[in-house]
Amino acid sequence: MNLNSAVKQNREKHPVINPATGEVIGQITWSTPEEVNQAVEKASKAFETWSRLTLKQRVQVFFRFKTILEDNLDELSRLCTSENGKTVGESKAGIEKGIEVIEYAASLPQILAGGYQEVSSGVSCRMITEPLGVVAGVTPFNFPVMVPLWMIPLALACGNTMVHKPSEQVPLSAIRLREHLIEAGLPEDAFQLVHGAREVVECLIDHPKIEAFAFVGSTKVARIVYERGTRLGKRILALGGAKNYLVLLPDADPDLSADNISTSFCGCTGQRCMAAAVLLAVGDTQEIIDKVVESTKKIALGKDMGPVISRQALERITGHIDQAEKDGAKVLLDGRNATVPGKEGGFWIGPTILDNVSPDIPAAQEEIFGPVLSIIRVSNLAEALEIERKSPYGNAAAVYTRNGGLAKKCAESFSASMIGIKIGVPVPREPFSFGGRGQSRFGCGDITGEGGIQFWTQTRKITERWGLPEGEEWVF
Ligand code: NAD
Repeated sequence: MNLNSAVKQNREKHPVINPATGEVIGQITWSTPEEVNQAVEKASKAFETWSRLTLKQRVQVFFRFKTILEDNLDELSRLCTSENGKTVGESKAGIEKGIEVIEYAASLPQILAGGYQEVSSGVSCRMITEPLGVVAGVTPFNFPVMVPLWMIPLALACGNTMVHKPSEQVPLSAIRLREHLIEAGLPEDAFQLVHGAREVVECLIDHPKIEAFAFVGSTKVARIVYERGTRLGKRILALGGAKNYLVLLPDADPDLSADNISTSFCGCTGQRCMAAAVLLAVGDTQEIIDKVVESTKKIALGKDMGPVISRQALERITGHIDQAEKDGAKVLLDGRNATVPGKEGGFWIGPTILDNVSPDIPAAQEEIFGPVLSIIRVSNLAEALEIERKSPYGNAAAVYTRNGGLAKKCAESFSASMIGIKIGVPVPREPFSFGGRGQSRFGCGDITGEGGIQFWTQTRKITERWGLPEGEEWVF
């Protein structure tokens, strides 16, 4: 054993916990500042060769990576579920969405042909897209595979090398992703993993060789990393938290709307930035609300819905429900104190529906990030739109109506940027890019699609004039 590994063995290990049982399923040693520096230096060296490959050569890795992930979908989904808690079906769906980004990255040679134009007689201008160098990505706990895949394929296919820090709560899926990338033929040093929390993130942002830094997580941390990075003149894109509003109009299809609303706030146990948080019920929608409650009651905890990520998260969500009740909300469905037989050590909470929520209380305004739906009753659409537009977040919003004109009016009036019409989780699918506004996104552009390409690259514009040599016999 060399000195380095002996020192590492003696360092504190951080447990990875299965949220369904509370059991420890892994141990991770967090990276020291020196190890972060080594990871960046290795990635910097690897950049010299990886960036010189042609785009067509680089994307071959991603064709293979896609097939490897598809072949290992079951195993990877189970691993994701074991550290995150979501159902295996939800893990699979997330990985499949991530695979769409890999497909997009693999098609970059078709997208990135560049531009050419004769700008004046004998003078042409052409544009080349180039990588930046070593880039970094930091991701949250709620999609252990999908969110890293928003960043990794595009950043690497564009010719950068990368250092990734996954959430310390779900590092195991990221370790497996790296193994699959190497198996697909990526040079080992081109993609580095580091582990830890705040200190590691700060080392990455501050490292002089990190040219661009993408972050996905809570608004509080997104703002911190954005401000820290931009002060250093870095290119930063930091996606933050959300509070998503669904508008329910009286003419909506009751069954379709009820099932969809229920799935939107309960899917992934409400731990997704696209989840419904507030239902703005316009006019007489009682029949549909009754159906939302009925539909939600059918969700079996432990089978259709997983636990939340940690005891701390459980306490935060329960605290929000307690507070909303004190603030005058009526609890139509109460998920507090839920248990799943045989999994008493897990962090369980059932779906919760709060009615008559006042728009100015925390349950209506703050991100709860759990399976909680707050219903605000309003008398008309204008009032509903005003509440949505006051939210400082701007991730997703949706409307349920049978009327195309009303749907269009809502879609064009919401402050959020990802809009659903009769779809409660309106995630744009590739090639449409993913990204919010307001306090859901610090920086410019989106994280996937065209926005992703722009974020991970820079352009070179070459203006040239070439004439023919005169008087040389060998020319003509
Ligand atoms: P988080 O902000 O606590 O952590 C995200 C990452 O930041 C982790 O890797 C963590 O280690 C690191 N981190 C934590 N504190 C830090 C600090 N002080 N300085 C630097 N880095 C720090 O988020 P989370 O709890 O892992 O994830 C849930 C949040 O992510 C929710 O708010 C959710 O809405 C948001 N989210 C947003 C999107 C989006 O696209 N906008 C997508 C997924 C999740």
